[in-house]
Amino acid sequence: MSVSDRPLVAIVGRPNVGKSTLFNRLVGKRIAIVEDTPGITRDRLYADGEWLGREYTLIDTGGIQMFETDPLKAQIRGQAEIAMEEADVVVFVIDTTTGVTADDIELANALRRSPKPLVVIANKVDNGDQEYRNVPEVYSLGFSEVFPVSALSGRGLGDALDAIVGHFPAEDKDKAEEIEDERIKIAIIGRPNVGKSSLLNAILGEQRVIVSPVAGTTRDSIDTTFNFNGRELVFIDTAGIRRAGKVQGSVEYYTVLRALRAIDRADVVMLVIDSNDGLTDGDKRVGGFAHERGRAAVIVVNKWDLGRQDVLEEMPGQNPMKIFSEEMRDGMNFMAYAALAFTSATTGKGVTAAVETALDAAENHAMRIPTGELNRLLRDASDAHPYLDHGKQLKIYYATMPTVKPPKIVLFVNDPELMHFSYKRYLENQIRKTYAFEGTPLQIEVRKAA
Ligand code: GDP
Ligand code: GDP
Repeated sequence: MSVSDRPLVAIVGRPNVGKSTLFNRLVGKRIAIVEDTPGITRDRLYADGEWLGREYTLIDTGGIQMFETDPLKAQIRGQAEIAMEEADVVVFVIDTTTGVTADDIELANALRRSPKPLVVIANKVDNGDQEYRNVPEVYSLGFSEVFPVSALSGRGLGDALDAIVGHFPAEDKDKAEEIEDERIKIAIIGRPNVGKSSLLNAILGEQRVIVSPVAGTTRDSIDTTFNFNGRELVFIDTAGIRRAGKVQGSVEYYTVLRALRAIDRADVVMLVIDSNDGLTDGDKRVGGFAHERGRAAVIVVNKWDLGRQDVLEEMPGQNPMKIFSEEMRDGMNFMAYAALAFTSATTGKGVTAAVETALDAAENHAMRIPTGELNRLLRDASDAHPYLDHGKQLKIYYATMPTVKPPKIVLFVNDPELMHFSYKRYLENQIRKTYAFEGTPLQIEVRKAA
């Protein structure tokens, strides 16, 4: 199943009811696999889970607070609204130790009006006694079915998961959508007002060969297929790009969730940054999502026509592009592989080049190194710099490249414990010297040879 077809399950509820505990319990193991990337705040709010062979994507709406200024009540409400709009199944968590509160009642009323399937979880039911004492009150909210769960221990979780998966769309529909095309899919992402919508218009307008807007696989998203220098490519969720700025109220929630969905369905992301603002924490967070999902990436430094007068006045005679490149590299060092492009969506300058850069990155993202060449390269690299740890030598016996998008290399070694982070980095650099993997992450996994 392609990622895009995974049902989206959203967890909602007021603060402290146990949403993130539930989230971690459901996806904990998978999350641990993701390498720690210094430099980005990692709110684990979005990850994959699996139950009864069905894969799904889980989102902890309590974690979405990217540009947060709303008061708490509006936040909770905003989270629920997004869940209702975007998710396939909404999981409503209630804390049975505090009893039902006014916020719970308000949320319950909102969720009840939604046509989306709802699974109600009475959380913090750690034992049978608590179940008997605390769960009946939850029924006062008027839901016909409530699942007593302890997110902390996992008690009762199986039944709740059965109910969640039971609401997923039938599987053969997913299969039909799996006959996916080979066209390169691009997601334009970034904070509000950086110029995503303008950039899209500039790209589409310049070429004037819009093939057809086709309905995307998810909900009301519209993908735009278009012809670029004889190649067909797809811009993901162009409706979302255009609409995000016009949404009233909780813009931030909407933008983040939309971006996450788009990233999931894309081969390559164009992470748009407003050069006038410089690199912000919000930019880093959006970039972090793309990084975590292993997408190819181009950092598009937009509004380049405005320049950054303040910086340029401080450092006269400098090459502004060089200054900015360094600023981006420093601030986004967790995705040093990302390609860079400078654009002005309003004048059109650099826009075509940015798309070309994205296409190159997407190609690298799908590039496979022949096994023989890969092994030769790694042998040379380790011969040139053998790695010793307390007198024990790391031996790389064999390497394979089982998957691409992103390219993943598996090294079979004598003792995986001997593989130091810095040595892995050295090997990656050697590979990147020979093969143009610009714009794509490269995953290196180390296993003990049989
Ligand atoms: P969130 O704000 O809704 O994401 O809530 P958290 O997941 O951060 O949980 C709030 C507090 O409730 C934490 O101290 C958790 O350890 C605790 N908690 C969560 N689930 C359970 C549970 O099933 N049983 C008990 N006893 N405590 C829980
Ligand atoms: P979005 O929210 O990221 O889609 O941003 P928009 O495309 O709506 O752009 C936000 C504002 O920035 C609008 O007023 C645009 O006209 C302006 N803008 C976008 N790109 C550029 C650019 O390259 N140069 C300048 N000077 N303004 C831009």
